[in-house]
Amino acid sequence: MVRDLKETTLSSKKLGKKYGVSGQAVYGFCKRQGIKRPVKSKGHQTGECRLCQKLIQISKAPHSEFISSDTIRKEMGASKGKYFQHLRTLRSKGLVSQRFGRIRSKRIEEAYAIYFTKRLSILTIGRKVGIKNFYSTIRRHMELGWNVPPSLYVYDRQERRRIQNEIQRRKQR
Ligand SMILES: [Zn+2]
Repeated sequence: MVRDLKETTLSSKKLGKKYGVSGQAVYGFCKRQGIKRPVKSKGHQTGECRLCQKLIQISKAPHSEFISSDTIRKEMGASKGKYFQHLRTLRSKGLVSQRFGRIRSKRIEEAYAIYFTKRLSILTIGRKVGIKNFYSTIRRHMELGWNVPPSLYVYDRQERRRIQNEIQRRKQR
């Protein structure tokens, strides 16, 4: 019984049942013998985990799927192992998007940050951050169902075309 007391987390009541004594007797025995029972670990609680909460918070930012894993990890202040461990837990529970934390390249993160906010051609953005095939990255993400908004630059061109048409019409009058 001493071994059970020292090595298991079974309750005094359950151990008592096993050895045919009361739970109270088991408890008293422990006290008298000064036996320290191992503490039952609560396990990982997402709601109480600082790292998980931080991950959820970051994942709620706009375009969070396009933040690179390095940036997320640094913001959390976690090691690579810890980062993946908690991210996997959250993904499996559906608490963050399956796509969150998938981007490995800091350059791609930078390129997307520009893509979302500046009216620049994809080629120009690629040149700025030093990636040759940003266009194919975007295509690939679109095909995989990532929420990639249309390029601001395309809108700009459409706008320009509209203005040009307007000028033409005025000339024709
Ligand atoms: Zn956690």
